[in-house]
Amino acid sequence: MKPLSEPEIRASFVNCSKGAAKRLFVPHDLAERPWDDLDFLGWRDPQAPDRAYLVAELDGRPRAVALRGQGRGAWGTRRGMCSLCLTAHTGGVSLLVAPRAGRAGQQGNSVGAYVCDDLCCPLYVRGRKETGSDARLRESITVEEKIDRMMTNLTAFLAKVTDRSR
Ligand SMILES: [Zn+2]
Repeated sequence: MKPLSEPEIRASFVNCSKGAAKRLFVPHDLAERPWDDLDFLGWRDPQAPDRAYLVAELDGRPRAVALRGQGRGAWGTRRGMCSLCLTAHTGGVSLLVAPRAGRAGQQGNSVGAYVCDDLCCPLYVRGRKETGSDARLRESITVEEKIDRMMTNLTAFLAKVTDRSR
């Protein structure tokens, strides 16, 4: 994806207030991120690891979502498969919950997904990062197909976050 700047990322949050988007943690090393190998950028707040964020470019413009984890360990992290990139992990998948955009979110409505703990799905899909387990699904599809599938899953997740019709 095209490299994004901090102001661009802050301006693209769909499910939190402008004030919150201004204050939340954005990585300081954006210039060094491997943008060429990223279909979306995901990160956690090092001061508050239950807060996670991701930004993707959809229909030519960046969309960012704020996510809440259920804490590390406990039942929030489990052995399983990422619902975005379908990478299987032994203990590296977290349930992340996004408040829905607008009124629905203010009323406590949210959407959850099990996602790679470090939100590095694009790197797992490309084999640039390993899970450290043998549980990796051996698949015969190409990297491009895996990326397409991941983006389809992400787009569907973001659509649920931004859907104002329910
Ligand atoms: Zn993943």
